[in-house]
Amino acid sequence: MTDVVQHILEDVYALCAADTSGAVADYIPELATADPDRFGICLTTADGYVYEVGDTRVPFTVQSVSKPFTYALALADRGEEAVAAKIDVEPSGEPFNEISLDPVTERPRNPMINAGAITAASLVAGDTPDEQFDRIRRSFSRFAGRDLELDAAVHASESATGHRNRAIGHMLRSFGVVESDPDAAVDLYFRQCSLIVTGRDVAVMAATLANNGTNPCTRDRAADPVLIERVLSVMTTCGMYDGAGDWVNRVGLPAKSGVAGSVMAVLPGQLGISVYSPRLDGHGNSVRGVLACRELSRRLELHFLHVGRAARSAVRARYSIVDAPSRRRRTAAEQRTLTERGTRSRIFELHGDLLFSAAESVVRAVSPPAVTTATDASTADRPLDAVVLDMRRVDDVSDVARSMLDALAEQLRASGCAAGLVDPRGTMAHTVSTLDPDGSGRVFSTLDSALTWAEDVVLDRWCDGPRQATEVTLDDHPVLASSSRGNRNRIAALTTTSTYPAGTVVADIGDPALGLALVLAGRVTVEFVSTDGVVRPVSTLSAGMSFGEIPLVRRTEFGLRITAVEDTTVAVLAPADFERLRADDPAATADLVITLLDRAYEQVETIVGALRRVA
Ligand code: GLN
Repeated sequence: MTDVVQHILEDVYALCAADTSGAVADYIPELATADPDRFGICLTTADGYVYEVGDTRVPFTVQSVSKPFTYALALADRGEEAVAAKIDVEPSGEPFNEISLDPVTERPRNPMINAGAITAASLVAGDTPDEQFDRIRRSFSRFAGRDLELDAAVHASESATGHRNRAIGHMLRSFGVVESDPDAAVDLYFRQCSLIVTGRDVAVMAATLANNGTNPCTRDRAADPVLIERVLSVMTTCGMYDGAGDWVNRVGLPAKSGVAGSVMAVLPGQLGISVYSPRLDGHGNSVRGVLACRELSRRLELHFLHVGRAARSAVRARYSIVDAPSRRRRTAAEQRTLTERGTRSRIFELHGDLLFSAAESVVRAVSPPAVTTATDASTADRPLDAVVLDMRRVDDVSDVARSMLDALAEQLRASGCAAGLVDPRGTMAHTVSTLDPDGSGRVFSTLDSALTWAEDVVLDRWCDGPRQATEVTLDDHPVLASSSRGNRNRIAALTTTSTYPAGTVVADIGDPALGLALVLAGRVTVEFVSTDGVVRPVSTLSAGMSFGEIPLVRRTEFGLRITAVEDTTVAVLAPADFERLRADDPAATADLVITLLDRAYEQVETIVGALRRVA
């Protein structure tokens, strides 16, 4: 798999390597000693996987690629307001080393040109320039995931020749933008520019920005997520100096270049890229760096305004309890009601990341506007009685989406529709108690429990036939109900009643036949357990229902596991007693068997009915 991406990188590398135009920066004499043919491309994913080709481990000085990181530090140390009072965020369209301030605000136009960067450095916390530098060095090291060091030769070289930057420093001091010693501020800036990195380091630093401030390789938090948006914004508008417009047009990634020959680009949430190649174009940007970024952006469709596909609906499936009934076995009257009225419930299965537009599509699907281009054709069933949002396939929910869905649930409840969530991972940050003030909203950990609940909501409103009782006497048990009084008494006399405490396995797979078990009170689950231990729920049985017929009649072992989920009372007609009844009283046996057959066919009907609706 990784070869696929590696090959793309190698293709781009080969294509760009052919371009040997441009010239190595020499205004800082030490930079002129760089090998102009060096070339490396590195791509680090936001989860920390590193792809690299060429000279990605060659050291060079970070230069202006440092600017976004120092700006982040200034924001962290002084706060957004204080920094905004010193540095604007307008693209300048000027070279990086322009000796100018905005004529109206009298502030540096942005933190990506030298004037703004020197100001940002001066704002970093610390009592002395050395302390400030140490803070910068440690911060950059967190972004890179390793301890970065100063290139003393490059620093000395820039110090000796950096008159233009000193001029900028003194200009800043004279306008009161820099309030400390301007030479110290400029030297601090020179030192930050002289930190040694590799292409790999820069790609990891970029990936840390892409990953909202957390280094994906070390898991170290390098910057507060709220600052990342600020930093990426100025990189977008100002990162490539006077080439910024063309850059956004053709590459479309927040980026920063440095005169040592590196370009760093970020695709938020996805990846960081670095390209190192010392020959520069007229703007001071690496020729191959710009070219490679263009090519990668085009081939990998990285442009941040690229519309890959129209937003996909967050609703993956919608259905009612008629299409997908719960596993709870129901009385005949209940079953009839669910078949007739079940479409007044709706389950919406959501998926993906829920941001504003996804949440908007959910709101519109669940509660279509009155005059509607409704995506849900079956408006005839409305108003709905119960809505369930199945969140199990949702990856992430943004704050705005969460409050929109909360408002939707609120609105549904106000209109008399119960609203439930299937949310085992707590994606919506609700507990049963926060969503169930009056019993009209619930959070479930399984879909089946939510379906059961939705069915109960519909049944409570519409079922006027006999409902499932929480308790039945043996005499009233439906399995015996159609037998004559005499036969009923004879069968009852042969049963043994016992209570299984909650949690007890009443019968396990492989157990011998227990007999005909009539549930009088409580609840049992019926589960299938595969040989590799996977448990699949089959049904839930309550008072008035029965189990154990198959092993009894077919003389086999239990093929399913029966577990009491609450204290459960069961009357059992053991196999030997069943045989005795058969021998002694064929008429009573026939009554009983016909009832069982009838109930078995009723279940077959339900299953076939569900299959028919799905087909
Ligand atoms: N230290 C360099 C300077 O100020 C950085 C410039 C750059 O990388 N664009 O001149």
